[in-house]
Amino acid sequence: MPAEKSLPLYRGRFAPSPTGPLHFGSLLAAVGSFLEARSRGGEWLVRMEDLDLPRVVPGAADGILRTLEAFGLHWDGPVLAQSARDEAYRAALAELEKLGAVYPCACTRKEIADSALGGIDGPVYPGTCRGGLPAGRSARAVRLRTDSGVVEFDDGLQGRVGQNLAAEVGDFVIRRADGLFAYQLAVVVDDAEQAVTHVVRGADLLDSTPRQITLQRLLGLPTPAYLHLPVAVNERGEKLSKQTLAPAVSAGDPADALFAVLMFLGQTPPPESRDAGIESLWEWALTHWRADRLPARRAIALSAES
Ligand code: GLU
Repeated sequence: MPAEKSLPLYRGRFAPSPTGPLHFGSLLAAVGSFLEARSRGGEWLVRMEDLDLPRVVPGAADGILRTLEAFGLHWDGPVLAQSARDEAYRAALAELEKLGAVYPCACTRKEIADSALGGIDGPVYPGTCRGGLPAGRSARAVRLRTDSGVVEFDDGLQGRVGQNLAAEVGDFVIRRADGLFAYQLAVVVDDAEQAVTHVVRGADLLDSTPRQITLQRLLGLPTPAYLHLPVAVNERGEKLSKQTLAPAVSAGDPADALFAVLMFLGQTPPPESRDAGIESLWEWALTHWRADRLPARRAIALSAES
């Protein structure tokens, strides 16, 4: 008889989008999710979120993986690439169609912008195509029908989060007008495929979590535990991202960058560990990692000199 394959108690993941090199903001999510997983004897997977093809930068995925390796962020198992997962997303969409949970939408971005109220993540779709496509119009995107119930969850750092999806986000896109599946659907299908038990990522995704939980419930998939780390912002309050041209982290001096990440995450590495090399810094971090020291904030501004 084949041995029973038991699921690990903790399986975390890091899911970068290859739209540029790894920068300080994404390194925070990598290190935070890695240390949470490893300090609990868990697995840590990497998933390449190369779904948004127009934004993918050639060579960036390889660059990110090489930087992770240079930092000693070694992952378990193969890297799952979203670009190879179309069939799974298609099956999930078919399931949602069968449930009557989605509908085709003919509206253009401009039409929506002209008639919608602002929500927490762009305009709240006014529901124009909810009851069917207007005469003479053809489908562009596919949207999920939200209802007015409040979706609640306990975040491991940010506490209890509640969101009225219909009012705050509105019927959201599952398949885009350009035919690509939306991040919200892909992330849910893939976290389930990879049997992820714990999601640790930046708090810029906190507002996306109720959409993901809603999809998990509709698709009959388990909801992982969530912990959203503060994101690093500049003095203008903008997230350090590829869009704000955050500098790539240098793999040339990984101990220095790791030290900065640990400080940002509220850990207290001894000053001398900064110069002791990346391996001893990891050793310190793995034995001293304390999630209860993480700052329970959504964003922290980095001063120019840090
Ligand atoms: N790919 C997303 C990003 O780079 C992260 C998605 C996630 O962790 O759920 O921002």
